[in-house]
Amino acid sequence: MSILFRALPSVDKVLDALTASSEFSHIPRSIVREHVNGFLDVCREEIRAGVVTEPEQLGLEVLIPRMQAYVRAQARPHFRRVLNGTGVVVHTNLGRSLLADSAVEAVKEACAHYSNLEFDLATGERGSRYSHVEELLCQVCGAEAGLVVNNNAAAVMIVLDTLCKDKEVPVSRGQLVEIGGSFRIPEVMEKSGATLREVGATNRTHVKDYEQVITEETGALLRVHTSNYRIVGFHKEVSLEDMVALGKKYDLPVIEDLGSGSFTDFSALRIGEEPTVQQVVGAGADVVTFSGDKVLGGPQAGIIVGKKKYIDMIKRNPMNRALRIDKMTLAALEATLRLYREPELAREQIPTLSMMFAELPKLKQRARRLANRIKKTFGDQVAVSVVDGNSRVGGGSFPERDLPTALVAIVPTVVSETVLKKALLDTTPPLVGRIEQQAFCLDPRTLTDKEFSLVIEALQQALQAVSQ
Ligand SMILES: *Cc1c(COP(=O)(O)O)cnc(C)c1O
Repeated sequence: MSILFRALPSVDKVLDALTASSEFSHIPRSIVREHVNGFLDVCREEIRAGVVTEPEQLGLEVLIPRMQAYVRAQARPHFRRVLNGTGVVVHTNLGRSLLADSAVEAVKEACAHYSNLEFDLATGERGSRYSHVEELLCQVCGAEAGLVVNNNAAAVMIVLDTLCKDKEVPVSRGQLVEIGGSFRIPEVMEKSGATLREVGATNRTHVKDYEQVITEETGALLRVHTSNYRIVGFHKEVSLEDMVALGKKYDLPVIEDLGSGSFTDFSALRIGEEPTVQQVVGAGADVVTFSGDKVLGGPQAGIIVGKKKYIDMIKRNPMNRALRIDKMTLAALEATLRLYREPELAREQIPTLSMMFAELPKLKQRARRLANRIKKTFGDQVAVSVVDGNSRVGGGSFPERDLPTALVAIVPTVVSETVLKKALLDTTPPLVGRIEQQAFCLDPRTLTDKEFSLVIEALQQALQAVSQ
């Protein structure tokens, strides 16, 4: 073993060899030195573990390519772009919605320059950051007032804290959901200081169930959109209309947590009926909350709209300051909302919407094009075909509903599809897909035409890595 340790090249020798090429010239020498030290530690670990047994394995000609790969991996940002071949449009783990070009431009403008973030250009005095989007929001959804916080979890929190603290809130047992990431309605309510009164049964809740628990202590009526699951069969929830009537009768605000709120009518997609924000506001809900980055297709944000009386109370809650959105979010949100003034424009330019509305013949055509390129590039290294499949909206919206798509199915000849899938996570950029029918599948719905070349590059890198 000591022979092996002594066979390891010196730090300076490796450093000279590495910096001889221009690839790492943009990285300060001191940092490359750190990486080299880190890599030599890995080598020592390999010697101790018995992975390296011959001095030849430690020659410069063997180590340098490995070292280059190591420095490359260390030098790239930890948080980086990936290619989404999964077909899940609002993929929470891959960053949910992509912004429209105009929103990206607005973000760039907002962070590269000073702005009128909290400055009223009409008076030269201090202004409000929320003024930039409130009117637009109301215009698009027909509400009296609106407010934006960090995300929808925060929106639910501040609404309950403002309107229901130390009060009771009846919620249907069918709506006590966990959204994911440990966001559970009962726990959020407890944190906000409201007392949950469960009503009805898991599958059926009636108006009289609510009426039985309404007392002087009741603060509001809360409806939660059961975003990520669906009850089929013998099932009933109280409709928003009946809930609004109930709220009027007992003088209680009706709060609706829409989850993935949307301004778009998706009925043409035949993936079930989801009420739009406009419909919920129109039906008389007093306070409505929803996410900015689910099917709305904007930045991460929690949007609260509704009656001015309640929105004003929420605005005055000191919690608002802790949950406030930053200027980049604000810029992206305003640009996104502007597109919604023209629904056609929104469908065309907001990536989340254009991906959802992508038509099957077009997807088939694009899948064939990608499959052909893969066939041409990789020959008999892989077997490629185009098969029928399904995409998902994701983001906890439209649960169990599929969008028909065409998948590019890739079966590598030298390794298994799972080995390929894993290797594709270490390419630049990484490519995420799914295994279906013993093939590695890519859904063109969530890949742009421009990204096809990157897909080819990623496959090239991965196939090279697994065949070494
Ligand atoms: C997604 C969701 C939330 C949380 O929204 P975020 O924007 O992720 O914080 C809350 N309630 C419902 C019903 C949801 O679907």
